[in-house]
Amino acid sequence: MAAPSRNILQEQLYAIGFSPEDLKAVQLDMEVTKASMTQALEKLNRANPRVIIDTLGVVWGCPVVHLEDRDVQQNIVDLVPKELAVNFRFIPIDRSANNLIVATGTPQNSDMIKAIQLRTNFFVRTVLASEARITEALAKYYANSINMADLKVDESGYESEASKRKEIGGDSADDAGITRLANYILQQCLATGASDIHVEPYETEMRIRLRIDGSLVEIQKVKLAWKENLLTKFKIMANMNISEKRLPQDANMSISIGGKPVDFRVNACPTAYGEKIVMRILDKSSLQTDMTKLGFDLEDLRKFQESIHLANGMVLVTGPTGSGKTVTLYSAMAELNKVTDNITTAEDPVEFTLPGINQVPIRNDIGLNFATALRAFLRQDPDIIMVGEIRDLETAEIAIKAALTGHMVLSTLHTNSAPETVTRLLNMGVEPFNLVSALTCVVAQRLLRKNCVRCLVPDPEVTVQMLMDLGFTASGAQKATPMKGKGCPTCNNSGEKGRIAIHEVLVMGQEVRQAVSDKVPPMELKQVCMRAGMRTLRQAALYKMSTGLVSLREAVNGTLADNNIERSDQDAE
Ligand SMILES: [Zn+2]
Repeated sequence: MAAPSRNILQEQLYAIGFSPEDLKAVQLDMEVTKASMTQALEKLNRANPRVIIDTLGVVWGCPVVHLEDRDVQQNIVDLVPKELAVNFRFIPIDRSANNLIVATGTPQNSDMIKAIQLRTNFFVRTVLASEARITEALAKYYANSINMADLKVDESGYESEASKRKEIGGDSADDAGITRLANYILQQCLATGASDIHVEPYETEMRIRLRIDGSLVEIQKVKLAWKENLLTKFKIMANMNISEKRLPQDANMSISIGGKPVDFRVNACPTAYGEKIVMRILDKSSLQTDMTKLGFDLEDLRKFQESIHLANGMVLVTGPTGSGKTVTLYSAMAELNKVTDNITTAEDPVEFTLPGINQVPIRNDIGLNFATALRAFLRQDPDIIMVGEIRDLETAEIAIKAALTGHMVLSTLHTNSAPETVTRLLNMGVEPFNLVSALTCVVAQRLLRKNCVRCLVPDPEVTVQMLMDLGFTASGAQKATPMKGKGCPTCNNSGEKGRIAIHEVLVMGQEVRQAVSDKVPPMELKQVCMRAGMRTLRQAALYKMSTGLVSLREAVNGTLADNNIERSDQDAE
């Protein structure tokens, strides 16, 4: 991976609160005291060390570990002599086969890596950590007298907690018990960062599942004797009609959990064994509207930002349901909201309200669809229009007309890739000439599950040959650091925790416009886009894999192969 230019680093540091003067002071500190950049930045105290580390990790393309979040096993620490660790300021955090992972503020320090390899015979992988946390860890783990009892990770409590919650609920349901159970379910939803709660009756029992990072995880079985009372409890909380059990009902529920207000969208739907209730959390604090934190790689972020800041045009974010495209659109609007005050949106439904933006909910039942809303907007002289989704030719044509008459139009489409989006719009019946005149940028997006940072280890199954088969160059494959989570209580032994977005950003340059006008076939269009600088979702996923953020399995399962790459290379020869 190429060394990032200084400018990108500067820009990112400005973005988190450093001034040009600060950076001069950092430079001086590094020269005079031989402090590392990480150390010098942390000393200035302009930003939280976690934010500094995350930022440097992105710019340097280096995995990050927050030492305050994890315990290190003493037997790992003991693999490296104290004076070596103190001298180079690192802490060994994990090992796998002949690899040793060390946390350091200077992950590119080749002298340090060589010295550790010489002394330990381990192959060394570095991860970036806060210098302040390394100081603490050095003091804690290399202290002269170590109390082993303090360092032992107590997993027994977790186990008993887990087995205890497998089945609760006695033979009869009492009010207090039902309230405790309902509260427990809601608390678990918040504690795990889940997006949905599923309350599902079956023939012999009920089960409660949470959607965590996109997957449903069972947290609880409930005896049938408790079924009616629990369903009624949730329906009362959502202000639903409790006597209606044969028709689906929708409602909003606003409750306070641990003093924190939380909104849910609740749906009750009759099934063969009773009503199934699904509660989707509408937690504003989970809405990430800072574009720099969406997982964009810097070059892709720059392209996307440039496109949305144009005076007019159409920018589309595409992907299947649950790919996070709404969040990307909201972040774009939040950023544009800083520079203009006439943003209007048509949404189905309005999921999050943003201050200063006119948001109109779509009401198909009274004829207010995307097309009619969009037509009305054009008479209100907006600068920026967001249309929740382009589903039909009518909406597409008005959106294009708006983009061609001096507006910036943002919208989404259900397509799998950026080039496919162009093809889909043409297939809807949009004129190629209008499309190439209006469309400025298409971003295809997916969410991948991240490796759990608490149990991150090098993935021994990934070989250099495998990476080369996936399209890496020999040197790229050598430099890659494929990692995976080996499983721990934090990630429920899945090895994965949290998600990160990957993007495919297509900027409609001259070559691509020409190819669309010429109506080239989809496969050929993709190659034109790639030649014009578009990095595919698969390539973006493999890049995130090469820095240890996601596992190879997740990168390959989560994206489609670019199986036309090799052919295009051969064609070129
Ligand atoms: Zn884990």
